[in-house]
Amino acid sequence: MVLGYRPALKAGDMAPPSGESPLGNRLDPHLSRYAKRTHGMTASEIRSLFAVASRPEVVSLAGGMPNIAALSMETVSSTVANMLATRGQVALQYGSGNGDQHLREQICEMVGLQGIAPHPDDVIVTVGSQMALDLITRIFCDPGDVIIAEAPSYVGALGVFRAYQVEVEHVAMDEHGLNPEALRECLKTLAAQGKTPKFVYTIPTFHNPAGLSQPQDRRMEILQICQSAGVLIIEDDPYGLLGFDGHIPQAIRSHDSDGVIYLGSFSKTFAAGIRVGWAVAPHGVREKLTLAAESAVLCPPAFSQLTISTYLDTQPWMDQIKIFREVYRERRDATLEALTQYMPEGTTWTHPTGGFYVWVTLPEGMDGTAMLPRAVTARVAYVPGTAFYINGDGRQSIRLSYSFPEPDRIREGVRRLGGVINEELKLMHTFGTLGVARPSVSSQGSTPGPDVV
Ligand code: PMP
Repeated sequence: MVLGYRPALKAGDMAPPSGESPLGNRLDPHLSRYAKRTHGMTASEIRSLFAVASRPEVVSLAGGMPNIAALSMETVSSTVANMLATRGQVALQYGSGNGDQHLREQICEMVGLQGIAPHPDDVIVTVGSQMALDLITRIFCDPGDVIIAEAPSYVGALGVFRAYQVEVEHVAMDEHGLNPEALRECLKTLAAQGKTPKFVYTIPTFHNPAGLSQPQDRRMEILQICQSAGVLIIEDDPYGLLGFDGHIPQAIRSHDSDGVIYLGSFSKTFAAGIRVGWAVAPHGVREKLTLAAESAVLCPPAFSQLTISTYLDTQPWMDQIKIFREVYRERRDATLEALTQYMPEGTTWTHPTGGFYVWVTLPEGMDGTAMLPRAVTARVAYVPGTAFYINGDGRQSIRLSYSFPEPDRIREGVRRLGGVINEELKLMHTFGTLGVARPSVSSQGSTPGPDVV
């Protein structure tokens, strides 16, 4: 018998009345074996609602899925065929831990658009930028370490921070993104407690979920604050090329190559299914990141890397990005027009100039988490604001994503949502509060799922 090994309960074994046993329960006989770090990994209750929300009759404004239909499948298939014909032997083999050399050079060219001029060796190719978030947290954070993130923040990043048992301090945003005063205050409070945050995690451009962008002077201020506090910045930028007016904001990283790790992705400029992203890291960090990447996946998939590399070499990729911008601009317009038409007084929302998301603040006293089952019954889905906070805040807000549905479906979805909010308001006026008889639904706990992030 292996030391420390306890046999798992078999499916038919009797469990105590509570369903719990020292080893586990009927649903999961391995329950007691999990590492402590998995305690934060629980499926949020809204997952089951999203299973319903994926039915065709429901307009889902929940998922941040790119509109792949705007990409020509003939182009993709001829690119793959070309890639296999020319580099098939390499594409089907293991590659290097930090990614394909030529692709890293191409990434350097791309990030040049954001004012970043790295050496190809500073680029680490990852399985989507999600993996870069995981690797960064893995190499910098021990359980109990503190990091700072905007409030609200990207749900997938919060899931990673939770998984590594990191404490997240939220810092408020204003209409220009991360608020510098609030950041200074947070750093001061942490310093008074003897804590130094491992990094500040920010999405300065077309924020998920807030739909806001930091102007250049705000970026500089955030950078200066972090520089003088000696705190690393993680700049997450998957939407940077998707500005509706074609303007490409300069990255924070373009002003500091030592104090900022920049994350990018092909998920929104090519296709999410290719699962290729990257980190541009300071020299000192890149080796640890590569070693962590190797221990996680050995190497990023050569097939995907060479496909995207061939695409960049042979196709007018900037024209494709312009097509994506147009598609998303039209959908953003449909969303904002419909919100103006159907939202009751007291509802406010952001006006994104790029990216996928609108952040809606409901009338005073309303609860977007409690309202979700009623919205899904009315055949419209969104992500409740609480999913974007580590601490249960955000009840009065919801995130709408306009990236996937056609404009007419978006208008219909927002019309249905307006109906639901109006009904809730009527109830609130009749009973004074929605606090009673509210179905217990929580969006806290973890990511709602890959189709939602
Ligand atoms: N960061 C942000 C802010 C995102 O919105 C997403 C995906 N929605 C990611 C990272 C992860 O993207 P991917 O892994 O597909 O590159």
